[in-house]
Amino acid sequence: MEKHIVTIRSISHITHDTLLIITNKPNNYTFSPGQATEIAINKNGWQNEPRPFTFTSLQGDPYLEFIIKTYPEHDGATDKLLDVNKGDELILHEVFGELTWKGDGLFIAGGAGITPFLAMFRELAKSNQHGNSSLIYANKTSKDIILKEELETLFKGRVHHILSEEKTKEFDHGLISEDIIKPYLADNEKRVYVCGPPAMMEAVEKLLKDMGLSQEQIITEAW
Ligand SMILES: Cc1cc2nc3c(=O)[nH]c(=O)nc-3n(C[C@H](O)[C@H](O)[C@H](O)COP(=O)(O)OP(=O)(O)OC[C@H]3O[C@@H](n4cnc5c(N)ncnc54)[C@H](O)[C@@H]3O)c2cc1C
Repeated sequence: MEKHIVTIRSISHITHDTLLIITNKPNNYTFSPGQATEIAINKNGWQNEPRPFTFTSLQGDPYLEFIIKTYPEHDGATDKLLDVNKGDELILHEVFGELTWKGDGLFIAGGAGITPFLAMFRELAKSNQHGNSSLIYANKTSKDIILKEELETLFKGRVHHILSEEKTKEFDHGLISEDIIKPYLADNEKRVYVCGPPAMMEAVEKLLKDMGLSQEQIITEAW
């Protein structure tokens, strides 16, 4: 199995439970926006506990960036990442993933499921091609929203937030529904990208199929 040891240059919280991790980049390590790798912590007992995470840096950047939501209740690798510091090492494996840019569409993300879309739109924005797509971004509460301002810029204001566990004046409340999706489908070629926790992906895919979209129009990858 391909194996690269990288050193953490910085690690910080970008929300109450989500980390931004920057590492050095191995030589000749190539990936496309939306792709991921398996990462393990290079500490005793954790080297053989890899978990998949998406690159949020771009191929042209001289470093790697990851945005990682932590789940202390799993007592797993993401909880352990909360004890990791600058100078500690991570073990990276092969690059994989089919969730890559296929053209404008509606992007539906839940929580940390925003990471592949963030990478795609950071790349598109570099050549000013972040044209006519919209984002529906589902979170539990407003404090779970990752990089709100950057998403506004990348999607040129076409961001629809929905919160399942908080009522606010600013954002929609509830779960993603046909009523929320419908207005965005009228404006594009009916290509929908979906990424998020398994239960959310299953529910949204079913909704899209009930709305008449074919499997080919739904771009997704199991999380
Ligand atoms: C291709 C891909 C790319 C990804 N990219 C990212 C990314 O960029 N950023 C990101 O934050 N996440 C990403 N994920 C999700 C991430 O891999 C998982 O959140 C992570 O593996 C969870 O690791 P863990 O050690 O916390 O949990 P694990 O110990 O690996 O637990 C695995 C699963 O078991 C279940 N589970 C375990 N314990 C509990 C519990 N106490 N209560 C409820 N359920 C439990 C959960 O369903 C959990 O997802 C990606 C996933 C895939 C497949």
